[in-house]
Amino acid sequence: MYTDKNLTCADCGQEFVFTASEQDFYGQRNFTEPRRCSGCRASRKAARNAADGGGYAGADSGSTSSYGGYGAGGSYSAGGYSGARDRGPREMFTATCSNCGRDAQVPFRPTSGKPVYCSDCFRTMRGA
Ligand SMILES: [Zn+2]
Ligand SMILES: [Zn+2]
Repeated sequence: MYTDKNLTCADCGQEFVFTASEQDFYGQRNFTEPRRCSGCRASRKAARNAADGGGYAGADSGSTSSYGGYGAGGSYSAGGYSGARDRGPREMFTATCSNCGRDAQVPFRPTSGKPVYCSDCFRTMRGA
């Protein structure tokens, strides 16, 4: 088994602990002992990421990205539209959906002669 070990950081010269679990981790991957404390390693890594940043821009132009997915989900009805009936801040009115005949909760007073749609049908009507 491993025991904690003090190493000296090559960057800042401070001693830091190379813990037993870290040694185990490094040993499994055949890594050599770290030469820098975690603080210096983190800042070097951040500097490297900053330098490499943007290198991937335009790798694949992405011009073929599809428009799919907009109308695929049915999350509107699942997301608590009806659940907000009793505690929603808006007054809701019950009407009968002109399309499917189910009860529909609408946030406006249904006007006779005007079609009212439930949330599902409303979405369909809008061509979503
Ligand atoms: Zn250091
Ligand atoms: Zn409907």
